[in-house]
Amino acid sequence: MATIDTQRPPDSVMVRVHEIALKGRNRPLFLQRLRRNLRLALRDTPVQRVDPKHLGVEISPVPDSAWPEIAERIGRVFGVVKFYRCRKVPRTLQAIEEALISETDGLEFDTFRITAKRSDKAFPLTSLEINSRLGSLVERVTGARVSLRDPEVNIFVEITPREAMVYLREMPGPGGLPVGSGGRVAALLSGGIDSPVAAWRMMKRGCQVMFVHFHSFPLVDGSSREKALEIAELLSKYQFRSTLFLVPFADVQREIILSVPPPYRVVVYRRFMTRIAEVIAREHGAGALVTGESLGQVGSQTLENLATVRSVASLPVLSPLIGMDKQEIIDEARRLGTFPISILPDEDCCSLFTPRHPATRTNATEIERLESALDVPALVAKAVEQAEVRRVTESGALPQPAPAIARRG
Ligand code: ATP
Ligand code: MG
Repeated sequence: MATIDTQRPPDSVMVRVHEIALKGRNRPLFLQRLRRNLRLALRDTPVQRVDPKHLGVEISPVPDSAWPEIAERIGRVFGVVKFYRCRKVPRTLQAIEEALISETDGLEFDTFRITAKRSDKAFPLTSLEINSRLGSLVERVTGARVSLRDPEVNIFVEITPREAMVYLREMPGPGGLPVGSGGRVAALLSGGIDSPVAAWRMMKRGCQVMFVHFHSFPLVDGSSREKALEIAELLSKYQFRSTLFLVPFADVQREIILSVPPPYRVVVYRRFMTRIAEVIAREHGAGALVTGESLGQVGSQTLENLATVRSVASLPVLSPLIGMDKQEIIDEARRLGTFPISILPDEDCCSLFTPRHPATRTNATEIERLESALDVPALVAKAVEQAEVRRVTESGALPQPAPAIARRG
C-alpha cells in the first residue's frame, strides 16, 4: 500500500467543476458564486487566496497541518466535482521530473501510472510522450512498474500555459451547483426526518434555503423549536448562513380545532402552513416553497391531499423527495447527520388533536367550505407578524436580533 507523504507543505489546492462549466454564458456567475462559497467555507483557515482558474478555482496556501480540515470543508461545497492538492513547478521537463521524484520519494508502491494532461498545446511533448518519458523515469527511480488499468498510485501531471502541476490523489467533491446560484427558496422545516433532507437537496441544486418552522409553543413544550434550530445550524455547513423563521401556530390551530372535524385537520393545518410560508417567502425574495413530502408515505401525502394543500399556493411547491422511499430518505439523513436530531422526541404541533387516520381523499372545494368559518387572511397575517427570525450559522444562532432582510420589489 502507498503511504502519502504528509510532511512537505503543498503549494495549493485545485478545485474542478463540471456541470457549472457547461453553463455557457452563465459560467462567470457560477464560478463567482463558487469562489464566494469557498471563501466562506474556508474563512477561519490559513487559506488566503481563492482565485479563478480555467474551469476551476485555485486555493492557496494550504499548509500541511490544515490540509485535513481544508479538505473536509471543500468537500462540502456544492459545485465542486473534484479537488486535489498539488505542487506547482515551472513548465520545464526538468522541473516536472524533479517534482515527480520528490513527490514519490518515501512512497512505497509496486504499480503506478502517469496521467498527463496538456491544456497548452504549445508544450513540446504530447500527453502520450510525457506519459512515456515520465513513466520510464519513475520506473528507474522506484523500481515499480506501470499498470494503466489498476495502479496503486496515479501520478497526475498537468501542463497549462503558465505552469505545470504534479499531484497524486484526486478527491471527490459533492457535485451539485453553488449555493445561491439558483436563487432563494423557503423550506417548511418540521422536526422530522424528511424536510431537512429536502432542504439539503435544494441547496445541492444551488438554492439558498431559508427555513420556516411552525410550533405550538406554549400549547406544547419548546422541543420542536430547539430541534429546528439545531437542524438549521447543521445544514448551515452547506450554505454558511441561514435564516430560520419560528412561526407560532397555536392560535391558528385553536381556531381550526373549533370548526374543522378531526379527519380534515391535518390538511387544513398544511394549507395554513403553506399560506403563511408563502407570505414569508415572498417578503424575503424566495421563489418557491420546499416540503419533505414523499408520495403515499402517510395519509396526508396522497395525490388528492397534495393537490388540496398546494392549491392555496401561487409559488411553486417543490418536494424533492416525492419519489423516494422512506429508507432512502433515512439513509440520506444519516449521511447528512440530521437523523439523530430528527428522531429526538418532540412535541410536534401537528400531532395535537389529530386522528390517527386522516381523510386521504380531500378536495379543495370541500375544504374551502370547512374553512369558510375561519378568518383566513387575519389568521395568516397574525402568524406572519408574530414570526421570530433567527440568523443561524454552523456554529450556532447569532446572538443579535436579525438585521432586516431587504424586500424585493
Ligand atoms: P417530516 O419528516 O419532514 O416531518 P413527515 O413525513 O412527518 O415529514 P408530514 O408531517 O405530512 O410529513 O409533513 C409534510 C411536510 O410538511 C414536511 O415534510 C414539512 O415540509 C412540512 N411540515 C410539517 N410539519 C411542519 C412544521 N411543524 N413546520 C414546518 N413545516 C412542517
Ligand atoms: Mg413530520
